[in-house]
Amino acid sequence: MNILVINAGSSSVKYQLYDMENATVLAKGRVERIGMDTAILMHEPAGKPDFHKVDEILEHTTAIRRVLDVLVHPEHGVLTAISQIDAVGHRVVHGGESFKSSVLVTDEVKKEIRRLFDLAPLHNPAHMLGISAVDANMPGVPQAVVFDTAFHQTMPAKAYLYPVPMALYRKHKVRRYGFHGTSHKYVSERAAAFLGRPLEQLKLITCHIGNGASCAAVWGGQSVDTSMGMTPLEGLMMGTRSGDLDPAIVPYVMGKEDLTIGEVSSMLNKHSGLQAISGISSDMREIVEAVEAGDKNATLAFEMYAYRLRKYIGAYAAAMNGVDAIVFTAGVGENSAPLRKAVCEGLSFLGVDFDEEANLLGRGIEKRITKRGSKVEALVIPTNEEWVIAQDTYSLVQSQSD
Ligand code: AMP
Repeated sequence: MNILVINAGSSSVKYQLYDMENATVLAKGRVERIGMDTAILMHEPAGKPDFHKVDEILEHTTAIRRVLDVLVHPEHGVLTAISQIDAVGHRVVHGGESFKSSVLVTDEVKKEIRRLFDLAPLHNPAHMLGISAVDANMPGVPQAVVFDTAFHQTMPAKAYLYPVPMALYRKHKVRRYGFHGTSHKYVSERAAAFLGRPLEQLKLITCHIGNGASCAAVWGGQSVDTSMGMTPLEGLMMGTRSGDLDPAIVPYVMGKEDLTIGEVSSMLNKHSGLQAISGISSDMREIVEAVEAGDKNATLAFEMYAYRLRKYIGAYAAAMNGVDAIVFTAGVGENSAPLRKAVCEGLSFLGVDFDEEANLLGRGIEKRITKRGSKVEALVIPTNEEWVIAQDTYSLVQSQSD
């Protein structure tokens, strides 16, 4: 069975085509700048040279059409007919309280995703465009949706409610939802396999540290708390997002600087975090380079980033009354040895016996970065959200045909 995984944004579509039986990626790529006459398709077919094409692509239906065309192209393609794609899986950021797991797309499901536009105005409408574009190009092909929020639906009320008037939850669904759930779930399962222990018996703290960053407390395979909240702004310090701050800062700064809601929201989402403190970059690679060159602001940004992450790890160890392993994943978590070192070296009180040499070895592989016998393990587990989406889609389609 071949499954096409789609991650549709407002002006981009990322895709990966899987051969499920052989667990291989046949092709991947993305279309960027949708809506412009200089949109670009970047296609990477397995075993063939990459292919780029600049073209006018004004909306998502055409973008998906171009992706399908290149997948069956005689020179750059990997299939002979579009009918060789058996199903499509979509990433959807917000499933609200309605979706606790992945589901096949039906009219009801579409209606519900639309109802959730309010909670994720930047993401869910774009995902719907992706779903409709597949409907238009591949009528009758089963589609599934996999939600970033679903894994965190197991959180207890004490973790997901905010201490504000309950009417806000009842009327407007104000609560913690959490994000990156697909990644937290995947790396939890991989960590258990790596450790050779049943997931049901493990207390894990998973740290998805990429452009966006979140931590989760995963107890017995279930998310019991996570750092992102009603939106992906809460929690850790990120590349351009502030993460936690005193909510009173918002009206105070709005008053002092005469800012609108939109401006303050843009400040906290796009002009804060590493970028704001370093004044250099939101990219951890450039921050580390600047730290090595002795830049003071970059050093402060790096220290704040690591410190805030370490505080969350401490909090989640307390939330679960213990922790067996801390897992690092995503762009920064997988690649930044200096960040992992800065975080782990302050966790010796918990029983983390950090292995400096192991931390520096190997890229893109699952590895242990604590010494043998360490009471609490620290692991690096590369995430693979697209593979989870493909697998969930595969099982849903299989169970439908059983
Ligand atoms: P993601 O959102 O998971 O794709 O992560 C993207 C981020 O990972 C980039 O913005 C970089 O800050 C970070 N990153 C990627 N490679 C490295 C690296 N070698 N060292 C430090 N950070 C990295």
